[in-house]
This record gives sequence, C-alpha cells and structure tokens, in this order.
Amino acid sequence: MKILVVNSGSSSVKYQFIDMDGEKVLCKGLAERIGISGSRLIHKLDTKKLVLDREMKDHEQALKLILETLTDKEWGVIKDLSEISAVGHRVVHGAERFASSVLIDEEVLKALEENSHLAPLHNPPNIMGILATQKILPNTPGVAVFDTAFHQSMPEKAFIYAIPYRFYQEHRIRRYGFHGTSHRYVSKRAAEILNRDYSNFKVITCHLGNGASISAIMNGRSVDTSMGFTPLEGLVMGTRCGDIDPAIVVYMQESLNMNLKEVYNVLNKESGVLGISQLSSDMRDIEEAAESGNKAAKMALEIYIYRIAKYIGAYTAAMNGVDAIVFTAGIGENSPIVRERVCDYLGYLSVKIDKEKNNSRSKEAIISTPDSKVAVLVVSTNEELVIARDTKEIIEKGLKELNLF
Ligand code: AMP
Repeated sequence: MKILVVNSGSSSVKYQFIDMDGEKVLCKGLAERIGISGSRLIHKLDTKKLVLDREMKDHEQALKLILETLTDKEWGVIKDLSEISAVGHRVVHGAERFASSVLIDEEVLKALEENSHLAPLHNPPNIMGILATQKILPNTPGVAVFDTAFHQSMPEKAFIYAIPYRFYQEHRIRRYGFHGTSHRYVSKRAAEILNRDYSNFKVITCHLGNGASISAIMNGRSVDTSMGFTPLEGLVMGTRCGDIDPAIVVYMQESLNMNLKEVYNVLNKESGVLGISQLSSDMRDIEEAAESGNKAAKMALEIYIYRIAKYIGAYTAAMNGVDAIVFTAGIGENSPIVRERVCDYLGYLSVKIDKEKNNSRSKEAIISTPDSKVAVLVVSTNEELVIARDTKEIIEKGLKELNLF
C-alpha cells in the first residue's frame, strides 16, 4: 500500500509518499509560496533534488504539480495515480469532535469547517488541501489525522480553565493541546526502545522545535500538555511567549494604546527567544551568541531552559512520578546544551546524563546513565509516518468491513 501524506499550510504544501511495505519514503517535497510570486516545487528523490519554478495560484494547482511529479518518468516513483492507495492529511484542530484519526467524508468535512474558527490560521488551508486532493483524486480515500486528537484523553482538571464555566459550555474555550501526533509517536517509541509496556509507563515528552510543547503521558494516554486553547500557551518558543499573565494583554491595549492585532503579533511573532534576545528565533544563533558572551542570548537560553524544567517538575507531580523523559524536534534532537541544562535541574529525580552519549548526534539514543532513576532519551519525531500508519489502518479496516481485504 502506497500512501501520500499531505500537510497543507496557508501558502505551502509539504508531502511525503510512503510505501507501507517496509515504511519507506519513496520521495518527498514542498510546494511553497502558493498564491504569491516566486512559487516553486522542491522535490526530493533519494539524494537528488528537483526545483521547479512554476506559478501555483492555489492548493489545487500545487497538488496537480505534485502529482504530475510523482508520475514523471524521470522524477516520479509511480506510473499511474491509481497506485496511490490513500491520502493522509494533517489537520491541526479536531476540537472535541475527533479523538482519533478518521476517514474523510462529507460529514467530517462539515465538522472541520465548523471547527475552523478555533484554528483560523491552520484549519482553512488544511481543508483547502483536502478539497483539492478530492477534486484531483476523486476515487482515492482520504484520512484526517489531527494534532489535537491525542490530547483528548486529558481529564477535566487539566483542560478546564479557571474562568466562568459558561465559556467552556457555550464557546468551547478549553485546553486542546497540539503536536499530539509527535507526542504520541515519540512516547510510544520511547517505550519500545526501553522495552517497557506502553500501557504501564509514565513519560514526559518535550517537543522542542520552533513551536514547542511538553506533555505528560501516562499509560499511553496524554494527561496534560502545555499548549492550550491555541499554540501560544506553555513553553518559551522561537517567537511565541508561552505562559504570561493574561492581564498583560489588557495592559498593552489600555495603557500602551496597542490594538488587538499589534498585541497578537507581539505575543506570537516578536516574543519568545527572539523577543528576549533581540537577536534571533533560531536556537543555533542563540547558543552561538551565548557561547561568545552575549548577555541577552544567555538570558534567553536560561529562561527557555528554566521553563522546560518547571514543566517537567509539574508533570512529574501530575503523574506522581516519571519513568522517562524524551527530547524531540529541531532543538530537542539537536541541542546537547539544552538537554544537559534541563537535566541539570532534575537532580531531585536522580536523573543522570551520560555526557558522551548526549553529545552524539544519533537520531535515537538513551542519553541517561544506566543508574539514572529516570531514563532520558532523544527520539527523532516522525509525524508523517504516524499519519501514514493511521491512514493505512483506517483504510484496511474499511476494506475488511466491506470484505474486500
Ligand atoms: P523544528 O521546528 O522542529 O524544525 O525546529 C527548529 C528549531 O531547531 C530551530 O530553533 C533551530 O535552531 C533548532 N535547531 C536545529 N538544529 C539545531 C542544532 N544543531 N542546535 C540547536 N538547535 C538546532
């Protein structure tokens, strides 16, 4: 079974084409600057890279070009589009309706549209990707895999905000959490690596990329996570502030005469590591500057790490213990400094890091010492693979029900 995984953003479509026999990525790529000048497709096949400068007015044109490339004699990997068994779509917000991945039908699409107000920047382009794919591949089933779904297992005490309850009842304002596909994958993978039973395992997963979130996962279920109603809450991120006193938002408007859009921009795009350092949102730049003595960069790094350590403490309490801590995504996978300094806070948990192992750059590693009370791991996240696996499972289940498999 060959599955196309599609991740549609507002002006981009990322894709991977995966052969599920052996879970091998046959090719992957990115259509970018859709609807703006200079749109292009970057397609990767083995070690070769194709860059096509082509006008792509919308997602439909982008997907047409992607599918043309998949069947291209030189750059393609299939002869005919019928070889695509199904398409797995990343969808950011599934709200309370979707606690797992689903086969896309009219009713699901309607529900996605109804949820769009909860993720106005993300869900509409996700839906555009689905509609475009359906138009070009009308007979190929599609599956939606949600960033929020894994966190639907959180108990009320973790997802209800302490604001009047009617805001939840009437407007569904609550913690949803994001990066669920990544937290699910790396937590399960950690249990496999450690040879532990996932259904009897307490793990804290730190997804530290440009966006960052941390989750408490107990016995295979997310019980708490740092992102909330939107991806702005929680950890310090590249350009997002994470947790702040909400009264700051009011103060900025009332006393600093900023309008809503300006405040939103400051908190989402000008804050976090970039805001504190006034230098960069990229952790590589921050580490380099801190190393050479830049005070603001040092402070940004310290605040970034301190926030992660605080959450690990909170989530250890939430689960009454922790068996493993996992680092993943761009910073989690690539920054020995961040990992080591977070773990420096965890002496009370008897966490011990093997510095040599922490410094190696393998994609998966146990970086704690054998006598560390809590295992610490680096696991490379793979959201596309989870989307492909879910898609395969749902399609096969459907075929079985129809007695076609
Ligand atoms: P992601 O959103 O998962 O692609 O992660 C992006 C973040 O990973 C950026 O802040 C990068 O600076 C960071 N990153 C990538 N490679 C490294 C590295 N070698 N050391 C530190 N940070 C890195």
